[in-house]
This record gives sequence, C-alpha cells and structure tokens, in this order.
Amino acid sequence: MSWENNVRKVIPYTAGEQPKGKVIKLNTNECPYAPSPMVATRIYDLAQQELNGSSSMLRKYPDMDAAKLVNAIVKVYNDRYFSGDKNTGKNTQAEAGLNFDNVFTGVGSDDVLSMAFMTFFNSDKPVLFPDITYSFYDVWADVHRIPYKVQPLTDDFSIDIKDYLDKENGGIVIPNPNAPTGVYEDPSMFEEIVRNNPDSVVIIDEAYIDFGGESCLPLIKKYDNVLVVQTFSKSRSLAGLRIGTAFGCEKLIRYLKDVKFAFNSYTLNYPSIELATVAVLDTGYFDDTVAKVIKTREWTKEKLSELGFEFRNSKANFIFAKHKKVSADEIFTKLREKDIYVRHWNKPRIDNYLRISIGTDEDMKELVKALKEIVS
Ligand SMILES: *Cc1c(COP(=O)(O)O)cnc(C)c1O
Repeated sequence: MSWENNVRKVIPYTAGEQPKGKVIKLNTNECPYAPSPMVATRIYDLAQQELNGSSSMLRKYPDMDAAKLVNAIVKVYNDRYFSGDKNTGKNTQAEAGLNFDNVFTGVGSDDVLSMAFMTFFNSDKPVLFPDITYSFYDVWADVHRIPYKVQPLTDDFSIDIKDYLDKENGGIVIPNPNAPTGVYEDPSMFEEIVRNNPDSVVIIDEAYIDFGGESCLPLIKKYDNVLVVQTFSKSRSLAGLRIGTAFGCEKLIRYLKDVKFAFNSYTLNYPSIELATVAVLDTGYFDDTVAKVIKTREWTKEKLSELGFEFRNSKANFIFAKHKKVSADEIFTKLREKDIYVRHWNKPRIDNYLRISIGTDEDMKELVKALKEIVS
C-alpha cells in the first residue's frame, strides 16, 4: 500500500512550445500584434497608484464579480450583438440584450471551460465532442471523471449534425470555428443542436469567432441550455493576462459561479480586471487588429495554394494545411531548422497536417519563402 494508490493521476495537456530567442512563432495562435495601447497606459497608471503607497489596491482582495470588466463587456457586446432597432430608434436591449448576470469571467477560457465541464457535465451519460478538436477537452473530461464519446468529423473535417441530434448524452462541447481545423459552421447548425438537446448543456467554444465568423451569442437569450465561451487570448492579444468569459442565461451563470467560488472566490486579480476592461472598451483598436489578421490570412491562403498546400477554408487566425507531396513531419522539421515554429500533432487523421498561426505580414513572407525552399 502506498500513498500513490490514492493519487488522482492525469495525462496533462501538452501546450505548444514557447521557444526563447528570436524565432518566428506560428505555433500557439497568439496575436502577433500588441494589445491596445490603452493597456500599457493603464499599467503605468496602476504603477503610479501603487507607488503612492496610501492608495494601493494590491493590498486588498479584488472584486469577486469583476464588476468593472463585466459592465464593460455588457456595454460593448450589447452594442455589437444586441443593438436596438435602428429603424424605430427604440432600444430593445432591455428584452433582448445581455445583463450583468449573463456574464462569467475566468482565468483564461481554459479555466472557464474546465469549470463549465465540472458544473454542467455531471451525469453518467457521455459528453460528446468531435474526434478532431481542442485537445484539452479529453483532458478535462479525464481529470473531472466525466465519461465522453468522440464523434468523428466527416472526411473534409465538417461536423455531421446527425452526430449531435437524438443521441443520448451528458453534454456537448464544440468549438466554432473548430480547432485545429479552422472550419466554421453557421449558428443555425448550433441552434438546431441546442434545440434538440434540452436536457443537456451545449458549450460553444468561440475562441476564434472574431476572425470572420458570426457568434452564437444571441442564442443565450432564446435557450437556457447554451453556454458561449470566448477568450481575450487570441483576438484581443492578451494571452499573457489570462482572461476568458462565458455567456449564458442567468441560471446557468449562477451555477457556474457557485462552483467557481467553491474553489476560489477571486477569479481575476485586480490588475487583470483593470487591464481587460480598457482592452474591451477600445473597440476601434480591436476591429483594426482583427481586420489586419484576416487580411494576412487571406494572403497566406493564396500563397499556400500556389505552393501546393491543401486546406479547408479557415475562419480562424490559423490555417490547417497539408502538402500534396511533402510530409508534414518533414516540413515541420525543416521549418524548425530555420527557426520557424508551427504546430504538428502525431495523431490519427491529422498527422500529415500543420497548423500555421497567422503572424505579421513579414512573418508570413518569411514562412512562404522558407516553404518554397522546402517543397520545391
Ligand atoms: C486558445 C483556445 C482556448 C483557450 O484560451 P485561453 O488562453 O485559455 O483563454 C480555448 N479553446 C480553444 C479552442 C482554443 O484554441
């Protein structure tokens, strides 16, 4: 008998490498641009406030509800997704818009998703998700002891909606666009899944929705069993700050907060709340950054096609591609020798694919130059 018999053993998630030094880093889908300059300005202001010892905020516990950030999100998202009727000028937000109690925040969407798994996937029936998807889902299912069943994507990496209709399940989680394929599905497909599964919670992981897709956010006002999860790590250039959000009906969010607060009542630290707030309010900077990434992505698609790569149309900040002749393994290794990092998985069905994050125009020109040498 040993204490090791009583250990909760898990196989952890493997994140993409974070190489040191000067490399072209296209392996973890970070945004290549700095966050809104308002963030740096706010850091400076916070430092001033702390230097003036009498007004230190760091000595106090932060706000459990991150109210400042949640209020900013409610304002910006209502303008974006639930704006009133422009013809009558009548503001329909009161009925249709987000309220404070529809929003949950966490330490990156990984934290939000893990808490959501624990809160909502609590039956003996299996949770459903695609076979090719975010590789954290099976890790959370294992660590929280949740049974799961993967539903294979079609040959072209699409979701077959029949896999999620009239199937016994203890919950469903699907990213849109899917990762690492980049394939985007219309909100109408998700609505059908949500409507067909009133006895389980459907989680839609929208980590990449800002890069050209339409959000399922409005569904939370029509259905009480859908949770939409987003992150500040990709489109808002704040992976280092760790900010994630979830949107759902008030009851769903209440349950999620109860579980979260049972672990640690202070979800976000004080600087994170302050910095994420100014970031979300700077909508102009956000729109510009996203537009730049999309433009570079479309350019990269053209170049990759010319070089003999094949891929589904991506609506994310990455492209999941395979070459007609040269193996992914070989390209991956040769790119690395040139200090260009992309992501490759030795997994069935996708081992001949590379996931290439969209960097700056300069990064992508370097990539295309290197690929040209490797594949020709
Ligand atoms: C990046 C990513 C996340 C997690 O991002 P955080 O940095 O934890 O907010 C969640 N889901 C998918 C599909 C992702 O690609």
